[in-house]
Amino acid sequence: MPTNGVKKNGRRSISHSSLRFTDVEVAPNSYRKIRLIGKGDVGKVYLVEKKSNGKLYAMKVLSKAEMIKRHKIKRVLAEQEILATSNHPFIVTLYHSFQSEEYLYFIMEFCSGGEFFRALQSLETKCLKEKDARFYAAEVIAAMEYLHLMGFIYRDLKPENILLHDTGHIMLTDFDLSKPSTEPGVPTIVKNTPFLFQNYSTPTIDTKSCTANLRTNSFVGTEEYIAPEVITGMGHTSAVDWWTLGILLYEMLYGTTPFKGENRNMTFCNIIRNEVTFPNYPQVSPSCKSLIRKLLIKDERKRLGSRAGASDVKAHPFFKGINWALLRHEKTPPIVPRYNAADPFDTSNFRPIEDSIELDLEKEGRAFVALQQRERGGGHETLGPRSGRGLYPSPSASTMSQASSAKKDKRSANPFRDFESGKLALPSHASAHH
Ligand code: AMP
Repeated sequence: MPTNGVKKNGRRSISHSSLRFTDVEVAPNSYRKIRLIGKGDVGKVYLVEKKSNGKLYAMKVLSKAEMIKRHKIKRVLAEQEILATSNHPFIVTLYHSFQSEEYLYFIMEFCSGGEFFRALQSLETKCLKEKDARFYAAEVIAAMEYLHLMGFIYRDLKPENILLHDTGHIMLTDFDLSKPSTEPGVPTIVKNTPFLFQNYSTPTIDTKSCTANLRTNSFVGTEEYIAPEVITGMGHTSAVDWWTLGILLYEMLYGTTPFKGENRNMTFCNIIRNEVTFPNYPQVSPSCKSLIRKLLIKDERKRLGSRAGASDVKAHPFFKGINWALLRHEKTPPIVPRYNAADPFDTSNFRPIEDSIELDLEKEGRAFVALQQRERGGGHETLGPRSGRGLYPSPSASTMSQASSAKKDKRSANPFRDFESGKLALPSHASAHH
């Protein structure tokens, strides 16, 4: 239910079942830049310290001009929507999002362990033992299950997009290739059938139905992780996420991906034509190989997960004994990031990067105030942790009208809405940086 205009601590907040927005004073210069820690396809990520409380955050900064030039507006808005509506232990938390004249900002939880990819590379063998790979696969499945329930397809699973929390647990990041459905479907119950595995006796929740109305044609993903149906342009569904899980599991175990060719074309040919094969070493159990084979079935309709989504994958014997409800508490993660205790701003888990553009947060803060004064309503921020989109949206008529009013609220409270509508699409002095 939308609850617009609720006064809370003197602040006007707008909330409904999916989002909570509040006008609060937070601006680029509420943060002190420590250093650049990452570069993505379109943005840069800085370690920043919030001046008011000394807490550390990751600030992702995206240049509006660059996004317009590279036709990435839809993607960044989708990323914002997914991050703002998600609230899950294995998905990076977005605390605030706002814009200045030239940039869009995401203030996220700082994952001080850095990229999982880097952690894997730093291992002597560059691969994990089977039980450790199972640990990370289980956390990824939990995040994926949640995303599918929310009506999102992730589409870009790979070790580079998995970050390590300081505890060593994973956090998925980088949702700019993710795809939200316009109206997520309702999870249904599926009965046990002979298709299922022996440790599977109770009816299961079908999370695939939540993204059932979502078939997309765009050619996205990372070369070695791309599913066959994406290459052949047949249109794809949430089953692509189970394919990428199969590749990830393989890479964690063997330190390489199964279809890697000499070049992009060879890789794509291998993905479409070759069956997965397994090296003799390291030794991997038959149940693990069986899981990988089932996740890497070329026909998405026969792939594991195509019937009831995550429930199918979780039921595979490879995961026997996993306590899915307590994953976050179960045991010490296999890789626990190391830190230099003497340095409060330690970023040794990140590769050093030179910053080519000097981002001045003080100057940006002044521009932000000017923008707010001109465009009434800019600078809304999302508050985290958020309530999250309801897991069981009712399909009734009243929900439909509720949903459309919720949509309206979301638009009016969208921190990037002027950018979205094109009003602020071309900042007057964007050329200064480009
Ligand atoms: P992205 O633009 O989301 O692909 O991020 C680019 C890089 O920035 C990632 O590969 C990480 O190294 C780093 N990064 C992104 N988000 C965070 C975060 N929340 N905490 C720590 N590092 C991050």
